[in-house]
Amino acid sequence: MKAILVAIFALFIGIIGYTVWSFAPPPMLAAASDEFALTDVRVIEPMLGKTESASILIARGKIARIEEMGTATDPDSPYRDHFVLPGLINAHVHLPNQTPLHLSEFVGLLYLRHGVTTVRVAGDTDGTGSQAAIKAFTEAGHPGPRINSCRAFVGGAGKSIWANTLVLERPEQAAGIINQLKAQGANCVKAYDGLDAARTRALVAAAQNAGLPVIGHVPADLLLESSPVPNVQHLLGTAKPVDPGSANLQFQRFHDWRQVDEARLAQVVQISATNAITHTPTLSAAKNFLNFEDFEKARESPAALMMPRLFTDAAWHPAAGVMSGNISATDFETVRDGLPKKLSLVLKLHEAGIPLMLGTDDLLPFTTPGISLWQEMRLFAEAGIPLPEIWAYGTRRAGNDFSVPWLGYIREGAPADLLVFEKDPTQDLANLGTLRAVVRDGKLYPVEDLDQAIEAYQAYYKRPLVDFVSVNLTKRIVAKSATVE
Ligand SMILES: [Zn+2]
Repeated sequence: MKAILVAIFALFIGIIGYTVWSFAPPPMLAAASDEFALTDVRVIEPMLGKTESASILIARGKIARIEEMGTATDPDSPYRDHFVLPGLINAHVHLPNQTPLHLSEFVGLLYLRHGVTTVRVAGDTDGTGSQAAIKAFTEAGHPGPRINSCRAFVGGAGKSIWANTLVLERPEQAAGIINQLKAQGANCVKAYDGLDAARTRALVAAAQNAGLPVIGHVPADLLLESSPVPNVQHLLGTAKPVDPGSANLQFQRFHDWRQVDEARLAQVVQISATNAITHTPTLSAAKNFLNFEDFEKARESPAALMMPRLFTDAAWHPAAGVMSGNISATDFETVRDGLPKKLSLVLKLHEAGIPLMLGTDDLLPFTTPGISLWQEMRLFAEAGIPLPEIWAYGTRRAGNDFSVPWLGYIREGAPADLLVFEKDPTQDLANLGTLRAVVRDGKLYPVEDLDQAIEAYQAYYKRPLVDFVSVNLTKRIVAKSATVE
């Protein structure tokens, strides 16, 4: 009898021990250094200038000094002759919700590994993502990007699919909503679906009074010409819905460009100039939709394999995930038809001097944090925009919108968010693959360290208990965060 009790007790302790071990995350990656110099490097500020041989001194999170080295060289510099550029800014992402799975820490590593040192969160789907990331990166000291967040979505009653939406029913409520967002710590405002022109205009005015930039969707019943949204996401408002009454209106607004012709593209450029509109096209999110055509193949792509199974087998899965039941066979043809037109519009906007931002809509299916921005840069290049211009959009030009002085610049007093490449990525985007080190807030992370930390997290998500719980928990979260209209 006693032996049985001892055995049961041992089994019980074993189960608890296994559970505790399973869920204990990998150790936090510490920076290699937080006071150092990048000596004998080439400094590139895209579209501004290049210094052939310089030394950048970094201290207390900032660029303390930049010295030109002239003909002097430093044979001991680990990054000698490397190219130093400002860290990349992704102007449209969504972060993982707070869970016991340490996903904020994981995506923080993915961002830095791909040179993304600042992200703008275009809405927290359940209200916890930004706070979890800020806690991890700021308070706990985990490596991760600078967080600029719009926090809650602002939308109309019953129209938004996200639970975390502040409902704006009448224009006079706009100031109160902006106050609520400010209290949440918002750095921007996400005007979402379900608003009309009057309410959107009131929201933009109240946000401007409070000094918050507004990004958003063109209201569903409007086109770009009558939209008050100053920073339009996803090129919305270009295509007029072919069948506004239908159940797939959302898909039509984003992807159905069959009726968009050259004349309409020219018109959109002209309206954008007249109304001083900035565009964040998120071309990668549109392109990634095509992955559903052959889901099993897409699941084996490098970007998908980087992510834990809770994404590929739950959140992104065509049967269980956010897109479940929303895709028809003809949709792929429609998206494929629209893509070249979107690329063509982006080039025309660029050539007309309309401000553009690089954003990707991370955590949408197959839009993997970090590497998604490389994909967006490639799509901008495919559109025909010169690489130095793309780098300027992804750094300094976006930085001006983020109320962090000199974000995206390399100069004394600027935040020390820097990338060190062996080969110049402004000459060839393939050189993104030669990223050797990332400096975030003055802390140096060699990419080998980041890779090792990422692998440790990937192994963590593969532990049988973590895998089982995370896949099932995600299915529940997806079901919960989408409210029934
Ligand atoms: Zn989004």
